Amino acid sequence: MRIIESISEMQQQSETWRREGKRIVLVPTMGFFHEGHLSLMRAVRNQGDILVISIFVNPTQFGPSEDFERYPRDLERDLRLAREVGVDVAFVPATSEMYPEGYQTFVEVTEITRSLCGKSRPNFFRGVTTVVLKLFLIVKPHAAIFGEKDFQQLATIRRMVQDLNMDVEILGHPTVREGDGLAMSSRNTYLSPEQRLKALGLSRSLQEAQTLVDRGERHAAMILDRVRETLGEGGDVRIDYVELRNPLTFEEVSEINGPTLLALAVFVGAARLIDNCILRIPSHD
Ligand code: AMP
Repeated sequence: MRIIESISEMQQQSETWRREGKRIVLVPTMGFFHEGHLSLMRAVRNQGDILVISIFVNPTQFGPSEDFERYPRDLERDLRLAREVGVDVAFVPATSEMYPEGYQTFVEVTEITRSLCGKSRPNFFRGVTTVVLKLFLIVKPHAAIFGEKDFQQLATIRRMVQDLNMDVEILGHPTVREGDGLAMSSRNTYLSPEQRLKALGLSRSLQEAQTLVDRGERHAAMILDRVRETLGEGGDVRIDYVELRNPLTFEEVSEINGPTLLALAVFVGAARLIDNCILRIPSHD
């Protein structure tokens, strides 16, 4: 596995591969790998000739009071794991080269980023779309894969790629969970053992919501009440949002009458955790 730090070296290498007719697949990450990251890499390992991952904790997607400084990092371990998975290139740019002095250009998806995480983290999606666009211009991938755990992020990137006519195929990957249901996240390391138990409320509440729908419940308000109850706000647990939305338009839903996004963001201690599922009405056959 090659480690490339320089932007121009990465661009030249990708250009060479493209001229040779090689298909490049990219997995963008912020590092501190868990099985979620690794399964994204494995999922696309055989979908191209060259597998590139990027490891970059992107400062522009963090708010001023957020966890950029203490976001977990372990580059040596990440590189070892990536090598084991069979990654060809780890692109690890320096912040000073990605955002040199005088940097002032951002790309923004305006509508579907207004709600959910976009509401509580005002500059988050603008930071994400900007860094993903930069990574696409540097790595020049034919395809890139993102996790459905960050459902709104995936939708936003799809929208950007479509709106800007970018010639990159965007792939989604289902959320990878611990055995007890907790969605894997680099931020899970912030949780104490007691907080981790409380964090199980997120995945449990998603399952309960689907059970309610299976039993015929269609009222969003009833489902949201049950989810809030299961999350058990108080003490270490503070709900940021619990919402039911159309998974394509992100408009709020008051009645379930088709696939509906149930999205949660919950602070458990210092960790802001997100999770989601698509609620489905059981078929009658
Ligand atoms: P991050 O390093 O947290 O920015 O994540 C890098 C990529 O991995 C993003 O596309 C995430 O959506 C994806 N990802 C993170 N956690 C999971 C998970 N538990 N399951 C599936 N994909 C994930």
